Amino acid sequence: MVNVPELFGSLVFDERTMKQRLPKQTYKALKKTIKDGQPLDINVANIVANAMKDWAVENGCTHYTHWFQPMTGVTAEKHDSFINPTDDGTVIMEFSGKELIKGEPDASSFPSGGIRATFEARGYTTWDPTSYAFIKDGSLCIPTAFCSYTGDVLDKKTPLLRSMEAISNEAVRLLRLFGDTETARVITTVGPEQEYFLIDKKMFDSRKDLTYTGRTLYGARAPKGQELEDHYFGKIKDKVSVFMKELDEELWKLGIYAKTKHNEVAPAQHELAPIYTTTNLATDHNQLTMEMMKRIANRHGMECLLHEKPFAGVNGSGKHNNWSISTNGGKNLLDPGKDPYNDHQFLLFFVAVIKAVDEYQDLLRISAASAGNDHRLGANEAPPAIVSMFIGTDLEDIFEAICSGKDYYTKKEERMKMGVEVLADFKKDTTDRNRTSPMAFTGNKFEFRMLGSSDNISCPNIMLNTMVAEELSQFADELENAEDFDAAVIELIKKTYTEHKRIIFNGNNYAPEWVKEAENRGLMNLRTTPAAVARYIDQKNVDLFKKHKIYNEYELRARYDILLENYSKIINIEALTMIDMAKKDIIPAVSKFVKELVETASAKKALSAEITAELEVELASKLSKLQLCFSHRIDKLDSLLLKAADKNGVQELANFYADEVFPAMQEARVVADEMEMSMDAKAWPYASYGQMLYSVK
Ligand code: ADP
Ligand code: MG
Repeated sequence: MVNVPELFGSLVFDERTMKQRLPKQTYKALKKTIKDGQPLDINVANIVANAMKDWAVENGCTHYTHWFQPMTGVTAEKHDSFINPTDDGTVIMEFSGKELIKGEPDASSFPSGGIRATFEARGYTTWDPTSYAFIKDGSLCIPTAFCSYTGDVLDKKTPLLRSMEAISNEAVRLLRLFGDTETARVITTVGPEQEYFLIDKKMFDSRKDLTYTGRTLYGARAPKGQELEDHYFGKIKDKVSVFMKELDEELWKLGIYAKTKHNEVAPAQHELAPIYTTTNLATDHNQLTMEMMKRIANRHGMECLLHEKPFAGVNGSGKHNNWSISTNGGKNLLDPGKDPYNDHQFLLFFVAVIKAVDEYQDLLRISAASAGNDHRLGANEAPPAIVSMFIGTDLEDIFEAICSGKDYYTKKEERMKMGVEVLADFKKDTTDRNRTSPMAFTGNKFEFRMLGSSDNISCPNIMLNTMVAEELSQFADELENAEDFDAAVIELIKKTYTEHKRIIFNGNNYAPEWVKEAENRGLMNLRTTPAAVARYIDQKNVDLFKKHKIYNEYELRARYDILLENYSKIINIEALTMIDMAKKDIIPAVSKFVKELVETASAKKALSAEITAELEVELASKLSKLQLCFSHRIDKLDSLLLKAADKNGVQELANFYADEVFPAMQEARVVADEMEMSMDAKAWPYASYGQMLYSVK
């Protein structure tokens, strides 16, 4: 039996460990840094570093690493050992405050969108004391922020921390106006639900597309997909169950609140949800969770797929970013409480989110934009590319009542009766859910549902924090000058709701009518990554990020470049992989199979004129035609890729990949899939969809 409370956080240099291992004064000083953001004194850092090292070495570590999140989307680490030579030729284990606080990785080898030319290589990582150090794979990992020699941010953590500060500052300003003198800080909280696939490792290894790109670029549908709806919440298979158990334990050791696990809609698809925590920690934890999923799957002969669309024809994987705002005292500012109609503070924070989502639809869309996620947004399995909000009928009634000046009566609590005596009745939720909404209010938090499964959640949270900070700032500006505060608040709620309620949509987001309706409402529909990312550098967005000191114009431009470059590179790799698979494997396999058919046909004919060879001849003829057509389409793809060199600039290039290369890939795939369907399974060079989706028992 595992002792979970004992296991939990055992690999983390957390509060408990700090208290045990640090001198009182040092602990106090460090706490002050963590809580109030005061700079850390080098003497304090030296003591902390030494204590961390002792703890890490006792737990089997030989190395330390500054663990950071460059703009590649994955985490980066460079390991240094603790050893230090002594005069007598031996070594001692040492770790200084300087080494704890600062690292110098080569910045030029990470994406920088032109901020760093390769000859100006210097970059720095600096310790983020608000996220605990932890042990992974025999190394002490120190969460750090990453910037260039010139101080421009090159990572995803720094802007996230800045955005958390921005929303805290503005929210506290507003709380003061409501008479709150106690709240020192406001914290955004996040609980990300993570979807993933598990397939047999051997199947995975047999496929170049999965290996190089994370998704299947070819593959005929299996006879059975998700149509029976028998996988969602279904019984978890033994092998998967063992994996999940080990994953939970490993995550608990890292202080990650892994809570819920279940099967998802598609065959071989699963989900893990942690209990929410501070945005910064939630982000680090989610990155670690993804890494552990992959690693532990390998231990069990499986591969964990985090791509947004590993298989055509069944649902892809997303990530739900549950987000809320609370005070350092623990009050959730988006909790409607018992009487939301009379809770003006709640209503004001709530309309701030409505206004933010309406005015910065593009930013939310961009936060979920990637080549992988383009397969999902707008297909009927994830929210559409149109950003809208679901707030539930209760709150809608309240806002409508306030706007029209009509009375509103709080609804009586309803009990749900199951009609069976032994089943207890329970309180019915006041409003139903909407599973199709990109941004749904779910009781006391918003669930942003557009993210792709492999996304780093810092992106949407940087956007949410910053855009809501902006609205809170505008509200505070206005209310600070109000003569009659109470009347001004109500007026502001009314005005804001009326001006921005077009973003609220409670219907079915998958319905084709919504696309028309949204267009009539003037909402954006940014269908592809290049179309969405183009808006990143719009003046209003530049102004927003500048005002709240999240990005300077240079840093924002760099992010725009990186997103587009990354998109083009991904499609290019996918296209090259398709060409490679076509020429090296598929076309030769078809030729070989056709040859067998022809040989069988002539053997039959040679034996007796009475044995028909019609089937072989017909099939050989059909496959030969398809093969030729396929080969032509692959040639077309090949020549398209050559044209990429003529494109000017990142935007034009990304548009070209979206508008021309991607459709050409689809055209080639269709033919390959048809050939696969017509061929002997053994003659096809890759594991089939059926094998992959049902391989794990
Ligand atoms: P639901 O049934 O609405 O999905 P859950 O309780 O399962 O609700 O929560 C889903 C996710 O939302 C979990 O990760 C949970 O920890 C997170 N969550 C709950 N409350 C908050 C909050 N105040 N802030 C951020 N995330 C939250
Ligand atoms: Mg959810």
